[in-house]
Amino acid sequence: MKNHQCDVVVIGAGLAGLSTAVFLALNGVHALVVERNESTSVLPKARGQNPITMEAMRAAGVAEAIRATRPAGVPAITSRVTESLVGKVLWDHIEHRPDFSRFSPEVPGMASQARQEAALLVRARGLGVEIRFQWDCTTLTEKDGGVELQLKSLASGETETIDARYVVAADGIRGEIAGWLGIGTHGLGHLKSVTAVRFTADLSRWTDENAMFIHYVKNPGLPDGSGILVSTDYRNQWVANFSSDDSRTPEQTRALIHTLVGIPDLQFEVTGDTTYNYWHRIVDRMSTRRVFLAGDAAHVMPPTGGQGGNTATQDGYYLGWKLAYVLRGLAGEALLRSYDAERLPYAEIVVTWQAANLAERRDMKSLAERTGEPIDHATMMFGYVCREGALVHDASDVVPGADRPFEDPLHPTGMPGARVPYADLSAVHGPAFNTRKVLGQHFQIYCTDEGFCVEADKLANALGVPQQATQVQSLDPLRAGQFKAVLVRPDGIVAWRGDSARALEQAYRQILAR
Ligand SMILES: Cc1cc2nc3c(=O)[nH]c(=O)nc-3n(C[C@H](O)[C@H](O)[C@H](O)COP(=O)(O)OP(=O)(O)OC[C@H]3O[C@@H](n4cnc5c(N)ncnc54)[C@H](O)[C@@H]3O)c2cc1C
Repeated sequence: MKNHQCDVVVIGAGLAGLSTAVFLALNGVHALVVERNESTSVLPKARGQNPITMEAMRAAGVAEAIRATRPAGVPAITSRVTESLVGKVLWDHIEHRPDFSRFSPEVPGMASQARQEAALLVRARGLGVEIRFQWDCTTLTEKDGGVELQLKSLASGETETIDARYVVAADGIRGEIAGWLGIGTHGLGHLKSVTAVRFTADLSRWTDENAMFIHYVKNPGLPDGSGILVSTDYRNQWVANFSSDDSRTPEQTRALIHTLVGIPDLQFEVTGDTTYNYWHRIVDRMSTRRVFLAGDAAHVMPPTGGQGGNTATQDGYYLGWKLAYVLRGLAGEALLRSYDAERLPYAEIVVTWQAANLAERRDMKSLAERTGEPIDHATMMFGYVCREGALVHDASDVVPGADRPFEDPLHPTGMPGARVPYADLSAVHGPAFNTRKVLGQHFQIYCTDEGFCVEADKLANALGVPQQATQVQSLDPLRAGQFKAVLVRPDGIVAWRGDSARALEQAYRQILAR
């Protein structure tokens, strides 16, 4: 048995684990990633990256790899409620979806989870991250100075004890680590069991204008009157989802696929199936002192709305820099408490939003009574404001209430805790740039006064904080009002607004717990 030490062990090489490992590495900390499977996902699973995920993927350096998976000349996404793939359209989600280009420079990605994970894996390895497949974390014990983990190679049987300073448990929907730590869960519980049947068929005659299809089919010929048909980013490969039923025969499954597609003589081949449980489940807290839960390990939601993989990826984006800053001595350990404060309220919102979508799209009336109607898509995605966390409010900020922690994304406030408004800024000494394209590893400070920029640079050097100070023509696009400077975190959240270098220093000390 070997014994060794490391700064961070990430358990799970899914979207949450790989994203965390990449953002740790970009910020100077190399985690050890442990995954019990032989490889990343081989099934397409989730599909699509929302604009915020794509902003994160740009910062991670994998946006191009994700965009490259998109077939040339087929730019659109189709998401509809229909009577079958070729039947009557009852509702078109995309027609009614807000124009995302008003909120972000990134267009949604269309890669499957398998391809996004593959891109993150290549990037993580390129950054020097060690990833061990076929290694299982069998126990984990939190101690005063760190965490002791037992690992076991599933290939050789070899075991290893690791003393880590921090652990990220990205161990997914069936993960056990939250339970080992005594972290409970809450939520509406089990919502539905669904069987996803993979099949190959040439449907190009009906679908060749689009790269990505999701049809929520309402049809009395389907179990519970509904099913979902989803394209994958593998040619002619489709997934049909129905309420599960152990007694269903292969012939009955084929008949349901015919009903879902709406072409009685369609030729197709079933290649496999998986039964999934849809849950509404959130952990009571997302961290202990030294272990951080990310992705499905923390929040499990039905797939309706496509935010499970997105939220998992984003957990890594919002956690990676904080953990790295603490390990590099740039921040005190208290910075890590902001992970829970900022992400848990969002987890509650997004899990309920997906459940409300499920209720609406599949006519589940008793669920709809418990979730309420889904809130507006753009507000849910772009309007969330962290009410507390690694940020400093000014007394004049009108912070939204805990019952509705949103701003109107069409009228962003620019207040600490909100996304920095999507805007082009004119630099005094350089080209114009976009606020949402410069994210990743540095704090950004924007000021109109040259002297303030000089002071901010000196301060960042003294504190050792990675910071880029830019003198801009105007702070109006950031809704700065009377403030002379705006500080933005590496993850694009506004951290502080103020007037003096002295106040900036105090803000840094508070934000970074120094
Ligand atoms: C049918 C379906 C459709 C979906 N569609 C979408 C969609 O369109 N868009 C979207 O955003 N999301 C979607 N999702 C959700 C998405 O798939 C998940 O939210 C996402 O996989 C979560 O990623 P994760 O990294 O948290 O967990 P996972 O991908 O589950 O990764 C966890 C990893 O941890 C490993 N692991 C667990 N325990 C250990 C251990 N002790 N030691 C070592 N390794 C361990 C596991 O092997 C696993 O690889 C869908 C889900 C389903 C079921």
